[in-house]
Amino acid sequence: MTHVFDDPTQFKDDVLRGFAAAHPRHVSRVRDASGFVRAGGPMEGKVSLVIGGGSGHYPSYNGVVGPGFADGAVLGDLFASPSSEQVYRIAKAADGGAGVILGFGNYAGDRLNFGEAAERLRAEGIDTRVVWVTDDIASASPEETGLRRGIAGTFTVYRIAGAAAEAGWGVDEVERVMRAANEATFSFGVAFAGCTMPGSNAPLFEVASGQMDFGLGIHGEPGVTEAPWMTSRDLARTLVEKLLAERPVSVSGRVAVLVNGLGATKYEELYGLFGHIVPLLKDAGLTLVAPEVGELVTSLDMAGCSLTITWLDDELEKLWTSPADTPAYRRGDATASTLFTVRRTVTASRAGAETEGGASAASTAAAAVARRCITALRDVVLDHQQELGRIDAVAGDGDHGIGMSRGATAAAAAAEEAEGGVATVLTAAGAAFSDRAGGTSGILWGRLLDRFGSVLGNDADVTAPLVATAARQSAEGLKTFGKAELGDKTMLDALFPFVESFEGRVAAGEPLAEAWKGAALAAVAAAEATEALVPRIGRARPLADRSVGTPDPGAISLALIVTAVGEVLLDGKAPTT
Ligand code: ADP
Ligand code: MG
Repeated sequence: MTHVFDDPTQFKDDVLRGFAAAHPRHVSRVRDASGFVRAGGPMEGKVSLVIGGGSGHYPSYNGVVGPGFADGAVLGDLFASPSSEQVYRIAKAADGGAGVILGFGNYAGDRLNFGEAAERLRAEGIDTRVVWVTDDIASASPEETGLRRGIAGTFTVYRIAGAAAEAGWGVDEVERVMRAANEATFSFGVAFAGCTMPGSNAPLFEVASGQMDFGLGIHGEPGVTEAPWMTSRDLARTLVEKLLAERPVSVSGRVAVLVNGLGATKYEELYGLFGHIVPLLKDAGLTLVAPEVGELVTSLDMAGCSLTITWLDDELEKLWTSPADTPAYRRGDATASTLFTVRRTVTASRAGAETEGGASAASTAAAAVARRCITALRDVVLDHQQELGRIDAVAGDGDHGIGMSRGATAAAAAAEEAEGGVATVLTAAGAAFSDRAGGTSGILWGRLLDRFGSVLGNDADVTAPLVATAARQSAEGLKTFGKAELGDKTMLDALFPFVESFEGRVAAGEPLAEAWKGAALAAVAAAEATEALVPRIGRARPLADRSVGTPDPGAISLALIVTAVGEVLLDGKAPTT
């Protein structure tokens, strides 16, 4: 339970303010951006490691900004990926001219948002690399390590990369060793009780009393297997056995070890557990190098812990044991290791293209309809926030309702403010949606609205065939961008049936509003039918079986939205009195 908060939707911003005030020696807040760079700004000629993800994981990620570790940290809302705009702003502020590495855990939302930010940075000539961490052995089989989530092992991987950047390595070399650290890092965890979002009175998942839930996620995703309560000694054995089963061939036997607390498990419990882990590892012929015990990657107030092993070679060991000095983590004398002394001032950049006028009369009229559609989108999302969260919590992280609500509210405000044609209104709504919602659906809905608006344009008549083209092109664009296939159990499984039905109706001569309304019915049926599908992408994939019988949250919200928009379109045709 979180007890100390004001407005739950402002929780992250309140944390950022207090953290900045507490650690001026280590971090500087980047103006108009959700995160930090090192105090004093970037260092000329040094590769910058920028890490991030949702908040709720302290000391990840802002707690480890400083010499020997990260150069910047970007934070999304609780458990939600930061938007690409926020990643871009922090990375810009952290760039010292020698290249930027973006580090994050392997989650759909983070990959899309960090990936898009990387493209923007590259387009500006900043050599940007992306490395995502895949240490959680419970989330996919050894044959599919690329699908694994990032959990506590992110700490070791970022630390090793940060040490390499601190030592003055070039961007190719830092990227290489970071990937090597990720390949060598394996984690396995257990939950005793789920975590509760501020303002909510129920945890995201529950562990039955007398049980332990193995294979937890760090965003309130439940574990994958349950077992009856066991002693600390037996727990140590279970965690160690699981990890040693994946011991890579030809490793030195020297290992970095983390025993990580998830937020509500006492340091005493962690030390008790570590005391049992040490002899088990030694009996297996391993040498522990600079082990860490404590809260490193948490999950709000979740009770649980995890064990992480990184198989070291000489290079990884040297970096792992080098000095570091950050708010939450210190080792050795980091001042002596700081090679970079030439600093330059941080200039928080604000992107965001100005939109210009020049819309046709028809497009301006359509813009008014578009504003009403976006308002309807907001209302329907707010009305169903709880339900969408509940569906997402079954196998995902429970944030779909709150994320969509943040995005929809911002989109409606931006649409209201935007002046000009229909393209201006929809692209403004898309940018605001993406930036405020964060997460996977934030960036996807942002792009959907943006593309839809761009195809409609600011100077054409908004006819049914043009809307059909916009629907088709924005759907295809989303599929290419998100790399999901039909049947993967995502919003695409409602979107494409909608588009196909709409195109068919338009081709048959149905007027716009009727065709849209009819297609919305197809979307609703298709969204409901996703309950039978097995998720193959996104947060729900590791708990695929649990998801069967529950529809995809993104498909359901899409169906709700197109239905609400259909009502606006039909309504617009009613004679006004
Ligand atoms: P997060 O996954 O960051 O928690 P949300 O809970 O807001 O984000 O959104 C989850 C929804 O995103 C899923 O229900 C699914 O419909 C959609 N989704 C996830 N990955 C993809 C993808 N690659 N392409 C299309 N939709 C996706
Ligand atoms: Mg979610």
